[in-house]
Amino acid sequence: MFDRERRTVVVVGAQWGDEGKGKLVDVIAERADWVVRYQGGANAGHTVHIGAKSFVLHQIPSGILHPGVRCAIGNGVVLDPDTLAQEIDELVEDGVDVEGRLYVSDRAHLVLPYHKLVDAESSASKEIGTTGRGIGPCYEDKAARRGVRVLDLRHPQRCRQLVERGVEHANARLAQMGSTKRVDVEVTVTLLERLAPRLLALSEDVGLMIHRARRQGAAVLLEGAQGSLLDVDHGTYPFVTSSNTTSGGAATGAGVAPTAIDAVLGVVKAYTTRVGNGPLPTEIEGALGEEVRRLGNEYGATTGRPRRCGWFDAVVVRYAARVNGLTGLAVTKLDVLDTLDELALCTGYDVDGELHTEFPGDITALEALEPCYQWMPGWKTPTSGARTLDDLPREARAYLDRVEELCETRIDFVSVGTRRDQIIGLDGRG
Ligand code: GDP
Repeated sequence: MFDRERRTVVVVGAQWGDEGKGKLVDVIAERADWVVRYQGGANAGHTVHIGAKSFVLHQIPSGILHPGVRCAIGNGVVLDPDTLAQEIDELVEDGVDVEGRLYVSDRAHLVLPYHKLVDAESSASKEIGTTGRGIGPCYEDKAARRGVRVLDLRHPQRCRQLVERGVEHANARLAQMGSTKRVDVEVTVTLLERLAPRLLALSEDVGLMIHRARRQGAAVLLEGAQGSLLDVDHGTYPFVTSSNTTSGGAATGAGVAPTAIDAVLGVVKAYTTRVGNGPLPTEIEGALGEEVRRLGNEYGATTGRPRRCGWFDAVVVRYAARVNGLTGLAVTKLDVLDTLDELALCTGYDVDGELHTEFPGDITALEALEPCYQWMPGWKTPTSGARTLDDLPREARAYLDRVEELCETRIDFVSVGTRRDQIIGLDGRG
C-alpha cells in the first residue's frame, strides 16, 4: 500500500461499518510508521486475530500489535479515559509493549460518565440503535463548546468547572427525558483525578507529530471507524454516528491537511451488513439471511448484537467511492460466501418503475425501492487457502470483476479469512 508516492493512506469502511477494517489496518500497518485513529469512540470494536489469540481493540489503533509502529488517537476521536486505561492494561498483560508508542491528542474530547448515562437513558439513542457508550452526547457537548478535552486535565480547577457545566447540562437533559437518574460532579472529578496522570503522560499535539513525521518521510496510516454510510453528513441520517467517518474526517480528525492524503482504501465486505436500525436496501430476509449471519459470524465486536445481512450493494459502494475519493477497494470475507448456490449484486434501485443508480440523501426514498439484482453463480469451493487471484475459482473472480466494474474502483486486496496471511494483494497491478 505504501510506496514512494503514497506515504499517507486513509483506510475507511465503505459500507455500514464492521467491514473488516481492523484486519486490513493490521496487514497494512506492517509497513507503516504511524497509525492514527481519527474519529469515533469506544463503540468501534476492531477484531484482529494473531495466531490463536484474538484482540478486540476499541480505541487504540490496531497498529499497536506491530512492534515499532507508533499509534495515535487523533483530536477527532472522543476518548473514554476509563476504557483506554483498561485497554492499555490488557495489551500489556498480553505482552504488547505500549510504552512510548501510544499518543493521545491533547485536543481530543473526553467521554465522561454523564455522557454514558444520558446515552443510556435517551429514547432517541434507542431508536437509532446506538451502542450506548456516550459517544453521541460527547460529540454534542463538543459542538456546543461544552466539552472537556485531554489538555484540560492539566488545569484541575478549570477541569472541575467544565465538569460542573457538563453535569448541569446532563442533569437538565435527564430531567427533560423524564429520567429520575442524576449525575454527580464528584464521581467524574474523582475519575479524572485518578486517570489524569496516565492520560497526560500520553498527550501530545498529534497533528504536529504527524506533520514532522511526514516531513521525514514516514508512512502514515489514518484509520477510520464505522463506515461511510454512518457518516453524520453522508450516511443514512439520522441513523448515523455523530462524526465524519469518510476521508474528509481523516484530515480534520487527525490534524493532517487534506492535500497530505495520497490514497484512500475503502474496505467492503463481499456482501453487506448493518447493525442497529435504519435502511438496508439489500437486506436478506428469512433463512438465507440467518445463514449468511451464521457463516460470517455477524455479531458485533463490542455489543454482541446480531448484524443484519444483505447482498453486496454496488450503489452504496460506488457512492462511498465518490464521497471518499477511494483509490482502491479491499473486499473482505469472500470466504463467507463459499457455500452459496448463487449470489446477488445490487446494480440499482427501482423506485416506482424508475431506475436509480445514485444513493439518495432522503432515506424515505430507500423505503419505497426495490433493489435490482444481477444474480451470479456461486463457486461452491473453499477460498480460504487462496493467496493469488489465480487460486480463486472462476466464478469468484467473475464476481469480483463485476464488483470492480459496478463500483468503478479497482480492487487492491481480497481477504479470504480472519488470519493475517489469508489475503490476496492485488495492489501493484498495472
Ligand atoms: P471492523 O470494525 O471493520 O474491523 O470489523 P469487525 O472487527 O467488527 O469485523 C470484522 C470481523 O470479520 C472480525 O472478526 C475479523 O476477524 C473478521 N474478518 C475480517 N476479514 C475476514 C475475512 O476475509 N474472512 C472472514 N471469514 N472473516 C474476516
